[in-house]
Amino acid sequence: MQGVSSPVLSSCVDKARNILPVGADLRGWIDHLQQQGRLSVIRPGVALKFGVAAVANRLDGTAATLFPWPDGHRGTVISGLLSDRRWMAEAMGVEPSQVLARYLNASQHPIAWQEILEAECQEVKHIDDIDLEALFPIPTHNEHDSGAYITAGLLIVRNPVTGIQNVSIHRLQVSGPDRLGALLLPRHALSFFQQAEEQGADLEVAIVIGVDPLTLLASQAIVPINHDELEIAGALHGRPLEVIRCITNQIRVPAHAEIVIEGWLLANTRESEGPFGEFPQYYGDQDEGHVIKVKAVTHRRDPLFHTIVGGGLEHLMLGGIPREATLLAHLKRSFSGVRDVHLSKGGVCRYHLYVQIDKRSEGEAKNVILGALASHYDVKHVTVVDNDVDIHNPTEVEWALATRFQADRDLVVISGSQGSKLDPSTCDGIGAKMGFDATVPLSAAPFKFLRIRVPGESDLDMEQVIDTSSGSWREHCTYPSPQESDHDN
Ligand code: MN
Repeated sequence: MQGVSSPVLSSCVDKARNILPVGADLRGWIDHLQQQGRLSVIRPGVALKFGVAAVANRLDGTAATLFPWPDGHRGTVISGLLSDRRWMAEAMGVEPSQVLARYLNASQHPIAWQEILEAECQEVKHIDDIDLEALFPIPTHNEHDSGAYITAGLLIVRNPVTGIQNVSIHRLQVSGPDRLGALLLPRHALSFFQQAEEQGADLEVAIVIGVDPLTLLASQAIVPINHDELEIAGALHGRPLEVIRCITNQIRVPAHAEIVIEGWLLANTRESEGPFGEFPQYYGDQDEGHVIKVKAVTHRRDPLFHTIVGGGLEHLMLGGIPREATLLAHLKRSFSGVRDVHLSKGGVCRYHLYVQIDKRSEGEAKNVILGALASHYDVKHVTVVDNDVDIHNPTEVEWALATRFQADRDLVVISGSQGSKLDPSTCDGIGAKMGFDATVPLSAAPFKFLRIRVPGESDLDMEQVIDTSSGSWREHCTYPSPQESDHDN
């Protein structure tokens, strides 16, 4: 579906305007982070090469970072907008436990966008003779990165036949003043490009930098091809996303974005791209990559340049939450006992999946393992636990493994399957998968696996219990001597 404008739609919009989630607007979200004490404004002059990433990494997960005038560049870099699950919940306007359900609901009930004719993202326009690094402060993050990269750019392309758009984030190497090297993995953007390239044609693209947190999350949805991720952004916002047409091509971009780069993915052109520090904390190799030629740039006045530091929590979490939502839906379709899933940070929010189930029959956990391993090639190790184990706490999952798992009985290993090419322990992506059934056998005597518990502990009011009066602990422990005390007998 493409965006339409109708009187009915606009009245809904007006009604919804005052109840938009806080994550529906980038600058409003940064205000919110600052009010919550989660924004660090950094002094001007931080080096673009490694300096921005060093500061952002040190504050990763505790504060977003704003870098005015880095390296003497008249511009501002922002990083770490969504580095924590609780922040994502706030951005979406739900409780942390509802994040996956809300995300899934939005991906299943997209809302068509609405085109407008004037917007902030086109306040300033540049056509031809573009010099990206003169226009924007573009950082270099990790030690062996080949150079400056655009890392938080939403690449928007159109299906050359139907015009349906696709949104995805790719690492974009600044290869020249108006030239970018792109890594396109075998997903939707690549498929549209191949359709164009077969006809010998370039593919129109827009790269959008500095979008609201909900549009950023929507860009990572794992939905079938020809599902426009901007419609999922609309669903997360609770109203149609406003878009505007690019000034040199047909692509529609989020109207309130900070920066839009317009150009073409060039047919029959490949150039060196990489290495680049990736989410598994290793480098993605140098290779012949796709090439984007920039035609035009538009932006707000004083635009914010968003950057995602490779391998940081924002990088991990942005990939993790949409994947969890998809994996949960996929597993629930086949196994009614599945309650929740979690991709752990130690497993780079991709490789280690924890699944919590209400176990009703013996062997069920092993089937869940097989289903989970087949659901996405990135899933490498699956641990299935009972409903009394908190899968968001890695210590709890390890405890279940320590006390409920026997390797000769509960381990599943599958060799030679397709895994992640960025996992350096695989042979170019081919590797082993493993599952741990850490559930209690249904035949076990109930007392044997009963977790110890202190009655009353969980609903204790600690303020009633703790003595906050001053003085040394010794005074508290001084009792009247027997002579001074009253005796009843
Ligand atoms: Mn897609």
